[in-house]
Amino acid sequence: LAKSSGGSSYKFFDESESHLFYSKLDLENELRNALDQGGLHLEFQPQNSLVSGDIIGTEALVRWYHPVKGRIPPVEFIPVAEESSLILELDRYVLDRGCKQLAQWQQKGINIKLAINISSAQLEKGDLLGLVSACLDTYQIQPEWLELEITENSLIKSPTEVAVILSGLQEMGVSIAIDDFGTGYSSFAMLKDLPINKIKLDKTFIDAIETDAKDRKIINTIGELARSLQLQLIAEGVETNSQVMRLLECGCYQGQGFLFARPMSASDYEEMLAHSHIID
Ligand code: C2E
Ligand code: MG
Ligand code: MG
Ligand code: MG
Repeated sequence: LAKSSGGSSYKFFDESESHLFYSKLDLENELRNALDQGGLHLEFQPQNSLVSGDIIGTEALVRWYHPVKGRIPPVEFIPVAEESSLILELDRYVLDRGCKQLAQWQQKGINIKLAINISSAQLEKGDLLGLVSACLDTYQIQPEWLELEITENSLIKSPTEVAVILSGLQEMGVSIAIDDFGTGYSSFAMLKDLPINKIKLDKTFIDAIETDAKDRKIINTIGELARSLQLQLIAEGVETNSQVMRLLECGCYQGQGFLFARPMSASDYEEMLAHSHIID
């Protein structure tokens, strides 16, 4: 017997279902504690020029080390957070920490762009413009170094509202990347109408780039589209040199992936930057 959250009604579950229910609820409660108690932190992964290998930007990725369960991957806890309002808090936390890090880098003379993932719930229910302007203000960051990644699917849920928010961000000088592009349901018209700076080609295309000629054609077409709309194009999940060759053939000149570096701590990242060439 389990009390459904927020209500007074009782619901029966069969054994397997109740296990699921409890573990999810546990995870949610533990995530809430982690958020409150500083149990989450960020890792950083570079974005590179596929031509020179130079670093052109950074993505911040949230990490959770559970005291007992160890490392819990985002694919497990982000969906749990998305089912509750926790995701709003998580986004706020990541934005705050990311901006703080960016400010520290700028104080050290490291000028590098930082991309932060924003959930669709934040666009729908949060106060993204308020949050971003508060962060820029608190940490005195020049907005051109901040990029926000929103998924393709968060564009389509409430396009008019999203357009207002994105325009507001653009006015502040913050840039926008469309994450996991090519797997969602946005239309090309949205790319034309919305103030977007960058397209992140979903990893599934890169996985298939060597084996599937049709995928190469799609990448080619997205590349042409990006060029004609003057959008940057970056491939995610680049793991091999032969993928790089194929991407270059398809007109994609930027990439992010294990071939260049895995996500790492801020201090490891700084260490790497010290030995790298950065293009800003
Ligand atoms: P994403 O934003 O598309 O992030 C890229 C994911 O691909 C990251 O997984 C990264 O570690 C992984 N990756 C990068 N290069 C490679 C590669 O060469 N090979 C493979 N196999 N994987 C690669 P991660 O960190 O596990 O994050 C998964 C997803 O969780 C992210 O996908 C994003 O949607 C979400 N996420 C991560 N951090 C945050 C965050 O701070 N806030 C929000 N709202 N979502 C986040
Ligand atoms: Mg991302
Ligand atoms: Mg991505
Ligand atoms: Mg992805």
